[in-house]
Amino acid sequence: MAENHEVYDVTIIGGGPIGLFAAFYCGMRELKTKVIEFLPRLGGKVSMFFPEKIIRDIGGIPGIAGEQLIKQLKEQAATFEPDIVLNQRVTGFERLDDGTIVLESSEGEKHYTRTVILAVGMGTLEVNELDSADASRYSGKNLHYKVEKLDAFQGKHVVISGGGDTAVDWANELEPIAASVTVLHRREEFGGLESSVAKMKRSSVRVLAPYRLKHLNGTGERIESVTICQTESGLSEVIKLDELIINHGFKIDLGPMKDWGLEIEEGRIKADRHMRTNLPGVFVAGDAAHYESKLRLIAGGFTEGPTAVNSAKAYLDPQAEQMAMYSTHHKKLVTQ
Ligand SMILES: Cc1cc2nc3c(=O)[nH]c(=O)nc-3n(C[C@H](O)[C@H](O)[C@H](O)COP(=O)(O)OP(=O)(O)OC[C@H]3O[C@@H](n4cnc5c(N)ncnc54)[C@H](O)[C@@H]3O)c2cc1C
Repeated sequence: MAENHEVYDVTIIGGGPIGLFAAFYCGMRELKTKVIEFLPRLGGKVSMFFPEKIIRDIGGIPGIAGEQLIKQLKEQAATFEPDIVLNQRVTGFERLDDGTIVLESSEGEKHYTRTVILAVGMGTLEVNELDSADASRYSGKNLHYKVEKLDAFQGKHVVISGGGDTAVDWANELEPIAASVTVLHRREEFGGLESSVAKMKRSSVRVLAPYRLKHLNGTGERIESVTICQTESGLSEVIKLDELIINHGFKIDLGPMKDWGLEIEEGRIKADRHMRTNLPGVFVAGDAAHYESKLRLIAGGFTEGPTAVNSAKAYLDPQAEQMAMYSTHHKKLVTQ
């Protein structure tokens, strides 16, 4: 592969919502920026898992569909024309004698940069699949690990297995359009936002907890029913269904990044309040970051991105202002 030795001020690894907003803010600080994303498209978990879900917890935006938010973030990120590289997973990290960082991708390309912002989410976008020999037969038929098109569930009898925020959110989103929604969870307590859990419990959603999924019953083509088991009594019940959604969490795996010498806690990268990692010139933002009181929301990452960018700027130029001027005062933006 041809090598391009152009050195960037900042290379953002990860083109999810936080990487995209950080790319915009890099432009505000006049930093030459590159974004590297290993998928063929930008958008991270939002595009992958909930393009049609309405996001309601971003200040000033009462509700916005996931894909629309990504469209707007891409537009915003493009303001200062960062270079975007798709289809490359960054795996290697090396520091040259002059301090330049060389990032190598699994596709063999080398990227030269003076600082790095890790906006890698959980490092992977893989879900925890159902631990059942039958599951792979039905996956992509009527067993789902994500909800891409709400319409696909219209008028259907839907069973959701899981008790985290994703399961609760999908129960609430599908309840008005599905024929019925049943949620089963192995614990009594649900992990979602209190108001979302309360909304689900008030609605027509049938909540079965603590229950676990015991068996998928079907023809091999489609699941027709599931056998579920009450955790305490061991009593089994069969529920007929049209569609089964499994929300058993995500794998967190930073892959080869774990060997870069980064301090990692609970599978995520430790950050100080300036979003600095323990490696000089390497910063972190978004779901990848770990620190006390971390807000694992897009809105939280929207602060961490600019903080990481400001720290990168200070690393490159200790005399620089601590933060950018407001966007309302930015020359390029106000003259557009
Ligand atoms: C079903 C669901 C519903 C949610 N609902 C909400 C909600 O309503 N409100 C809210 O605020 N949050 C919500 N979240 C959380 C939200 O999606 C995350 O907080 C957000 O996506 C984090 O953005 P990020 O950019 O840090 O990471 P991600 O979105 O995970 O993006 C990281 C990107 O980095 C890329 N990447 C990883 N490693 C590499 C590598 N080595 N090289 C190149 N690229 C790499 C990945 O491919 C990915 O595109 C929800 C999450 C899920 C799963």
